[in-house]
Amino acid sequence: MNLILFGPPGVGKGTQGEKLASEYGLSHLAMGDILRAAVRDETEAGVQAKQFMDAGQLVPDAVVVAMIEERIVGGDKSGFLLDGFPRNVAQAEALDAMLDKHGLSIDRIVFMDAPEENLLKRLCGRMICRACGFGFHRQYSPPLKSGCCDRCGGELYQRDDDREDVISHRLEVYREQTAPLLDFYRHQDGFFRLDASGEMDAVYAALKEAVIR
Ligand code: AMP
Repeated sequence: MNLILFGPPGVGKGTQGEKLASEYGLSHLAMGDILRAAVRDETEAGVQAKQFMDAGQLVPDAVVVAMIEERIVGGDKSGFLLDGFPRNVAQAEALDAMLDKHGLSIDRIVFMDAPEENLLKRLCGRMICRACGFGFHRQYSPPLKSGCCDRCGGELYQRDDDREDVISHRLEVYREQTAPLLDFYRHQDGFFRLDASGEMDAVYAALKEAVIR
């Protein structure tokens, strides 16, 4: 099974995507995580990507398309879940061409949506484990011990692009560049629109239902 999860920043693609991928044995291909690892390792792509990410802008298509193709082709699991890719129509077209080339296809496309006030609240309180990448939220899912990951004990940090000024720019980029994907995908087989404004467990249950339909 191959899936696409898309939607605005802060809607929960990462949290829900990770859970779904581990339950179904899929490769969780989270573009933001892949890019942050490249920045941390100072690879050529990471060096190119950093300035765009810090400013809350999209990294150039050629960079992300090449990175995701490598992961899709190298996958050894029973499918993949794309989270944060594609993020504009040009990337979606490049993905179609890439899948054709490798004889692959997408089974489900889930658009996760929530009102902007929810997104802002979720993004502003978000904290990530530096060691294992697990996500917490100051208010909605705080760690047992402040500043410390429940899973591995690693240090929690706030992403540079989760600062309020960068967040509002990311939402603007979303509205201008990513929201048009809705028209690109809404009539395709396997498309599902999911209200992701509720509690995490309820959203996950609805997501699973959409996927196994
Ligand atoms: P995320 O972790 O999904 O919120 O992504 C963090 C940042 O990585 C974004 O604000 C972009 O700068 C960059 N990024 C992630 N996915 C993409 C993509 N598909 N295309 C271009 N830039 C991306």
